[in-house]
Amino acid sequence: MEVACLDLEGVLIPEIWIEFANKTGIEELKATTRDIPDYDVLMKQRLRILDEHGFKLQDIQEVIATLKPLDGAIEFVNWLRERFQVIILSDTFYEFSQPLMRQLGFPTLFCHRLETDEEGRVVNYHLRQADPKRQSIRALQTIYYRTIAAGDSYNDTTMLAEADAGILFKSPKNVIEEFPQFPAVHEYEDLKKEFLKASNRELTL
Ligand SMILES: [Mg+2]
Repeated sequence: MEVACLDLEGVLIPEIWIEFANKTGIEELKATTRDIPDYDVLMKQRLRILDEHGFKLQDIQEVIATLKPLDGAIEFVNWLRERFQVIILSDTFYEFSQPLMRQLGFPTLFCHRLETDEEGRVVNYHLRQADPKRQSIRALQTIYYRTIAAGDSYNDTTMLAEADAGILFKSPKNVIEEFPQFPAVHEYEDLKKEFLKASNRELTL
């Protein structure tokens, strides 16, 4: 049996923090791990900024609910789910991704969790485990599933390497150049073809 493992942000939906910063005009929220390499420092800063602007979880979810999956993403997920079991492996948080996952029909999602207080303020975050995408692939392998994974960025590359087949999708040029061992495509139609190629079954478009 085969499982398709997909990254979420940059593959099916826009980058949530960037889009949230655009929608709210809070420039400081555009900082990424490129600006602040320590993820814990970055996340604590993000949560502090949200709190300073008075955003409770519900307000944040309302802004995120105005975002849309990438053009063609819904159709692609439906196509994939007819041919593979699909699991989304993401570094987002359940509470943030929910409005977008609803639009995707709530496929299975493994990601992290936010902690809120009784007033709905986001007070902390909890990572599911270290190197979660790769560990999920390894776990599937222990129950003898063949895995085909697709992602766009550095946080996907250990997953792509661990999987039986890895595909780069909508990746920036530097990632494609640094990981030439993975096929790289930019359109959903081409991603479908890569999944068919990577499958060991006779599947059709
Ligand atoms: Mg991504």
